[in-house]
Parts: sequence; C-alpha cells; structure tokens
Amino acid sequence: MKPQVLYVNEISKGIACRIGNQIYINKGLKKYPKLQKAIIKHEINHTSGFTMHDVKMDLVNNELKGHKVDYYKFVLTHPSSWTEFFPFDCYEGRFVYSIANTFIWFLAFITAGGILWILR
Ligand SMILES: [Zn+2]
Repeated sequence: MKPQVLYVNEISKGIACRIGNQIYINKGLKKYPKLQKAIIKHEINHTSGFTMHDVKMDLVNNELKGHKVDYYKFVLTHPSSWTEFFPFDCYEGRFVYSIANTFIWFLAFITAGGILWILR
C-alpha cells in the first residue's frame, strides 16, 4: 500500500472533516490538545472516499472515547462548531454530505413526530 500524505487545514467552523487527502479541523481545538489529537486520528482513519466504513466510523466514533467531556465542552463553547451536525456542509467550495448526520436527524424527527402524535 502506498503511504498516504495528508494535509491538515485549520478552519473556523465545524469540528473536523476529511475530503480526499485534506483534513479540515476547527482551530479552536488547539485549546484542547488531547481532543484535537483524537479527532485528527479519527480523520486519518477515514478513507479518502465515501464508504460504509466512513459511515460506521462516524456512528461509533471510537477515537473520541475518553474525550467526551472535552468534546462537549468544546461544542458548547464554540457555536461555530455546530455546522458539524448539519446533514451537509461546504468546505472550500467542496460539498460534503453526511449519511450519519442524516440518519441522526431522521431519528430525531421520527421521535419528535411520535411524541407530538401521542400528545395530540
Ligand atoms: Zn468522521
């Protein structure tokens, strides 16, 4: 296997994303070095494409185990990171679609719809 060369770009929104050999990471994560390292590891473990492996990785997120407190602290204090939870986003003109986020939003709407149906 050819060694992969990855480039890390600091951005001011979302949390992190990998497109091909480019990793985009929120610069606010510098204040959380252990979390930043775990997130970069997660992005490295993604493929350079868009496969089932990538969807599974985002639903399980093994790399973040042990960093959840820092993760939620970062998300709650950096509203710019909330774009991470949209089903789709745009990084430097490149459109990114998240099946994992779409699935989570779908479950949230079904749950909310179910609660409203029960309460009507
Ligand atoms: Zn991921």
